[in-house]
Amino acid sequence: MSRPPGAELMRDPTPDGRFGEFGGRFLPEALVPACQELEEAFRGAWADPAFVAEYGAILRDYAGRPTPVTECHRLSDRLGVRVLLKREDLAHTGSHKINNVVGQALLARRMGKRRVIAETGAGQHGVATATACALFGLECVVYMGEVDIRRQALNVFRMQLLGAEVRTVSSGSRTLKDAINEALRDWVASVETTYYCLGSVMGPHPYPWMVREFQRVVGEEARAQCRQLLAGADPDVVVACVGGGSNAAGTFAGFVDTGARLVGAQAAGGAAIGHGAPGVVHGSKSFLLQDEHGQVSEAHSISAGLDYPGVGPEHSYLASVGRAQYVAADDAEVLDAFRLLAETEGIIPALEPAHALAWVVRAAGTAELPAGSTVLLTLSGRGDKDAAEVMELLG
Ligand SMILES: *Cc1c(COP(=O)(O)O)cnc(C)c1O
Repeated sequence: MSRPPGAELMRDPTPDGRFGEFGGRFLPEALVPACQELEEAFRGAWADPAFVAEYGAILRDYAGRPTPVTECHRLSDRLGVRVLLKREDLAHTGSHKINNVVGQALLARRMGKRRVIAETGAGQHGVATATACALFGLECVVYMGEVDIRRQALNVFRMQLLGAEVRTVSSGSRTLKDAINEALRDWVASVETTYYCLGSVMGPHPYPWMVREFQRVVGEEARAQCRQLLAGADPDVVVACVGGGSNAAGTFAGFVDTGARLVGAQAAGGAAIGHGAPGVVHGSKSFLLQDEHGQVSEAHSISAGLDYPGVGPEHSYLASVGRAQYVAADDAEVLDAFRLLAETEGIIPALEPAHALAWVVRAAGTAELPAGSTVLLTLSGRGDKDAAEVMELLG
């Protein structure tokens, strides 16, 4: 029998952290040893059954895993394709982000680091990191752009409630990419005592690989749950939204060696794969939105979680070898999809996974997604955080 299309994919990167030509470790000299130390610690932890068991127990007893797969009967009738949702909206803190921060906080503790720093844009990764730090009694500092702090006052308050210190970043565009630069600066100065908790499958090796491994649980659960629901079969198509790409990477990892087509849904104003070119930012090489001079462009999206000009390097690789396909959805289609899921299934999604649903709605019944297909969609988070913004937009 011939091997399935992805049997060799989504395993370990090369020793220098590459997925094909993408990834790597492009950093100031001072941070190279920190990444090497982290890589070694992660390799050891991930091969240690006691670490893996504790990680699994916390995800079960604290974060609420496994999350269910929900069959959407009314939505499926409406679209003519069978839609199954992987319900990361039901995980503690309301999204898949908890999987990653629990893993990294456990790793920080194992490495003997008592101080954790993170960057955040909309505040979701900051809240998740503050949550895990509270759980393990770790000091937590979150860097956040001044503009984002103003836009996301509620998340700033949540982080403070959880015992974190939020530091304002007033350089550059005063948004996420500046917060990342500031967090890296902190790390250079404090690497002996400090763990840097990165929020997606981005940054220098080993982060893209490590974060994918901490999110793999999403895809592995979903594959088993789909086989149960589909009498041993896999879905025809697996779709997830892509900001940095962590929920999609975790989802794809569970299906890459099956016959399922993999689709990543980007924001139209942040479609690094399709509208970007290869470049280096924040420590790794990947597709990146940039102007004709190679300057990083600003991304624009209705959803703060997809408002980033880059994408994780492994997604660039999966696109380049043709194993995954990357599409884009615009704000208007996303708002329609947001309402559709609320009205047909009683589930208010976050705006990020509403991009994945927008693609399903657009593609259903076409050659892209023929009638009668089965689609597994990762619902990466719940929409409570977006309700006020949508209320304003819909007037
Ligand atoms: C942060 C976030 C995303 C985007 O991050 P990825 O790393 O691409 O998964 C998507 N959905 C939700 C609900 C988020 O909070």
